Amino acid sequence: MRTWIKTPLAIFADDAAGGVVTEDGRIVELLPDGRLPTAPVDETFDASRHVVLPGLVNAHHHFYQTLTRAHPAAINKDLFPWLKALYPIWARLKPAHLKIAAKLALTELMLSGCTTAADHHYLYPKGLENAVDIEVEAAREIGMRVTITRGSMNLSEKDGGLPPDSVVQSADEILADSERVLKLFHDPKPGAEIRVALAPCSPFSIDKPLMIETAKLAERHDCQLHTHLCETADEERFCLEVYGVRPVDLLEETGWMSKRTWLAHGIHFNDQEIARLGKAGVGVGHCAASNMVLASGICRTCELERAGSPVGLGVDGSASNDSSNMMEALRHALMIGRLRYGAASITHLDVLRWGTEGSARCLGRDDVGKIEVGRQADLALFRLDEPRFSGAHDALAALVLCGAHRADRVMIGGRWRVIDSAPVGLDLEKLIADHSDAARHFA
Ligand SMILES: [Zn+2]
Repeated sequence: MRTWIKTPLAIFADDAAGGVVTEDGRIVELLPDGRLPTAPVDETFDASRHVVLPGLVNAHHHFYQTLTRAHPAAINKDLFPWLKALYPIWARLKPAHLKIAAKLALTELMLSGCTTAADHHYLYPKGLENAVDIEVEAAREIGMRVTITRGSMNLSEKDGGLPPDSVVQSADEILADSERVLKLFHDPKPGAEIRVALAPCSPFSIDKPLMIETAKLAERHDCQLHTHLCETADEERFCLEVYGVRPVDLLEETGWMSKRTWLAHGIHFNDQEIARLGKAGVGVGHCAASNMVLASGICRTCELERAGSPVGLGVDGSASNDSSNMMEALRHALMIGRLRYGAASITHLDVLRWGTEGSARCLGRDDVGKIEVGRQADLALFRLDEPRFSGAHDALAALVLCGAHRADRVMIGGRWRVIDSAPVGLDLEKLIADHSDAARHFA
C-alpha cells in the first residue's frame, strides 16, 4: 500500500511542503513544494487542512493510574504523602483492572496524536504477576507501539522503604520475571511494535543489589533501563541517609550511567551531575504536568540537552497529571520551561522536537519520532477548525500555543488508527463505561 499525504497546511519536517509518501509501513519519500511522487500511489489523502507531525512519543506513564485520577485521598499532596495515600488503594489492582486501564490510557494517548508509548509498571500485588503480559495484550489490541517497562519494588516499609509489603516482590522473583518477559516480548529490531525495558521504581523502593543485577540483565538482552530519579528533595534526603550518596552517585555505583538509561523527571541535579549525565548519554523524560501537580520542581531541560542528554516528554501517571494527553504535555513543557529560561529560550519547535525525536531517543529508538525517509510511517494530523485556533497565523506554533488536544487522524506503521478523531474499530463509549466501572473498585 502506497499512500501520499498530499500538500499539508504545515508539516514538522524539512522540505516536505508537497507531503509525505508512505509504503509498507515506512516513509519512502518527502516531497518538496510542487513535486509529485516518483511512482503511482494507491491512496491520496488531501492534507490541505491538516498540520502533520511525527507521531508523538510518550516517555513515561503508569497506565494503571487512570483508575485513580483526581482521587480525594491523594489530591493536594507532595510526592511522598501522595504515594503513601495511594499505595494501599493501588494494592487492590487485579488483572482485569490493569487490562482496561491500559486500553483506556493507550486510546487516550493515541487520540492526542501519540503513536509510541512507554509504560512503567512497578506494582505487583498478589495475583498480578503477569502485569507485562496484560499490557502487551492491551497494546496489541489498540495497535500502538509500546515499550513496556518491567518495573519493580523490593524495598518495603519493613526494610526502610516507602511502599507497603503487599505491593513488592523479592529480587529473585523480579529478576526471573524480567528475564521471562524479555525473552517472550522484547523485539529490538527497527519497526518493533513491542519492546520491553527494565525499570526498578525509585531509590526509595528498591535496593542497590537489584539495581546492579538489573543493569547486567539489560546488557545481556540489549534493552533500555528506566527509573524515577531526582524527582523531589525528599528523595535526595532519603538517598543521603540510606545510601550515603546523592541519587546520581547511586546511578554511577550501580552501572546505570549509559545510553541504555532514561530517567523520569530528573529535576534536582547540580551542574556537575548534569555534565556527567550528558557525557554518559543518559536520557531524561520531562513530565511537566506531574511536576507542577506535585510541586516537585522544574526539570533543567536546556542544560541537560546542551550537555548531551536526550530530552523527551512524558505525561506521567494519571494520578499525578491527571490526563494522558501528549499535546498537553508539549504545551506544559513550553510554559514551565519559559518560567525558568525566559520566552526566547524555549520555542514550540523545541517542545515538538522533545515530544517526538527526543522521547524516541530516550527509548533507544531511531526508527520513529521524525518525518524522515526510512523511518516508520507514524504520523499525527491535526485540523485547525476549532474555535481555539481561529485567527492563528503560524500553524505549527498554533498547535502548541492554542492548545491542540485531539488529532483528526493518526497513522501507525502506515495504517490509519484514528479517523475523524475516533479510534478505528473500537467502541469508545463502551471502553469508557467499562473503565469507569472498574474505577469504582478504587473509591
Ligand atoms: Zn512516574
